[in-house]
Amino acid sequence: MSVKALRSTFGPNCHWCGLPMDFDEPHGRPESATIEHLLDATMGGMRQPKHRRLAHAVCNHTRNQLRLKAEREFEEWLATRRASAGKP
Ligand SMILES: [Zn+2]
Repeated sequence: MSVKALRSTFGPNCHWCGLPMDFDEPHGRPESATIEHLLDATMGGMRQPKHRRLAHAVCNHTRNQLRLKAEREFEEWLATRRASAGKP
């Protein structure tokens, strides 16, 4: 499903922030429309057209960065928890 098809199905606004996206060529700007895969590799890599939405490049990027940050923080918390296990 292309950006154009997704736009006609879901409208011109970002899936995440709800603000209008930039559909002008060339792509690559922060406000450009990008295809968001709602089921990504963490969900078994199922990439089906029905799970695609449009989102700003900057929203897509920030979401990915914050998810990675959260995963790192969780790993650190787990390490702390394991390190403190068995201590009085
Ligand atoms: Zn957005």
